Amino acid sequence: MRLLSVIEGDLNRLLVFELDDGSRVESVFYRGDTLCVSTQVGCSVRCIFCASGKNGLIRNLTPDEIFCQFKKASELFPIRRIAVAGIGDPLLNWKNVMEAFWRFKGEGLKVSFYTVGHPPHRLKELLLLPHAGVTISVHSTDRGVRRFLMPHAGDLRDVVKVLKETLPLMSKRKRKKVSIAYMPIQGINDSDEEVLRIGTLASELGVSVTLLYYNRVSNLRPVSLERYETIFRKLRSMGVRVTFSTRFRKDRIGGCGTLIIDREVAA
Ligand code: SF4
Repeated sequence: MRLLSVIEGDLNRLLVFELDDGSRVESVFYRGDTLCVSTQVGCSVRCIFCASGKNGLIRNLTPDEIFCQFKKASELFPIRRIAVAGIGDPLLNWKNVMEAFWRFKGEGLKVSFYTVGHPPHRLKELLLLPHAGVTISVHSTDRGVRRFLMPHAGDLRDVVKVLKETLPLMSKRKRKKVSIAYMPIQGINDSDEEVLRIGTLASELGVSVTLLYYNRVSNLRPVSLERYETIFRKLRSMGVRVTFSTRFRKDRIGGCGTLIIDREVAA
């Protein structure tokens, strides 16, 4: 595995790796201390808003390939946190991700996860790990809309069931680190009713909402900034804790959903 290229964004640094079989994956160094790592080459969930899943899954990364993204990046940047939020879903390469997780922990790193929450029994295991945060992609409470946005993300009812069973087993401090992700997209999941249902779900579960701003990688359109702010305020008015997309997540380089598996780079 070798580091092919480091691409400078306005805020982020995008690292392109070539694996021994010629496949490529990407990591992102952001916020001055965090590395977002990939866990798969491609992704079988195939979210329509994400460049990483466009061509489906090619293969799982090995524990070494996941860990080495950190090793190589740490020669260039000071890394204290790992976000398992790059290409792939950690629950779908669970055994290898777990091995890498314990190696990250052995280096004293704080490790957080992004997942669609499928399969549910692994979500439960994930929640009970000594993680620094788990964000679960919900995006819509409507089954049809969620399936349209994330065709292979499983059933939200299973995710909710696991959360209801598992959150009470966690300490209050740990529960605060669990959130559901909501990314409003114009004309699809940005209605007042949807916002209300997302807020109600978060309230019932006692978790926060990570409100993402869509980085345009397809024909879908992000909501206007005014609408984004209105949604933020509406959720807050329901008593829900809400974090919003930082400028790092919105950067043209390395922003959420923009990582791809076959970027042209000068090797
Ligand atoms: S958003 Fe995550 S789960 Fe969905 S296709 Fe992209 S990498 Fe896969």
